[in-house]
Amino acid sequence: MIIDLFVVSQKGSEVMDDFEEFCQALSDLSNEERIEELKRIKEECICPICPTYNICAKEAGELLFCILGKSKECINDRIECMCTPCPFARRLNFGANYTTYCIRGSEIEQRK
Ligand code: SF4
Ligand code: SF4
Repeated sequence: MIIDLFVVSQKGSEVMDDFEEFCQALSDLSNEERIEELKRIKEECICPICPTYNICAKEAGELLFCILGKSKECINDRIECMCTPCPFARRLNFGANYTTYCIRGSEIEQRK
């Protein structure tokens, strides 16, 4: 994940969109600060109300796939994706072109 964030940072701030600027800011934090920030943002993630989200993912504490990447071993079958109307995605203006992060990979990974 951190490598992906640094790839974004190489684009330069003048061409970064809101999501990329957020990733840049996240990559500039210390490890401890980043963990705390990710913990805070996970509270905004609405994956738990998505039909695709399952008990395995819940028990594993998997969330925030748009940033952290696909589900490790819990989610394989897409039923629906709630990412486009997610408040976090709307706030940072992403989720229109790429979705289903739990299966397809993070926003950054899908943009490559
Ligand atoms: S965009 Fe999707 S994965 Fe990201 S926080 Fe929102 S619901 Fe969770
Ligand atoms: S990433 Fe999208 S498809 Fe996957 S659980 Fe979250 S809202 Fe549902």
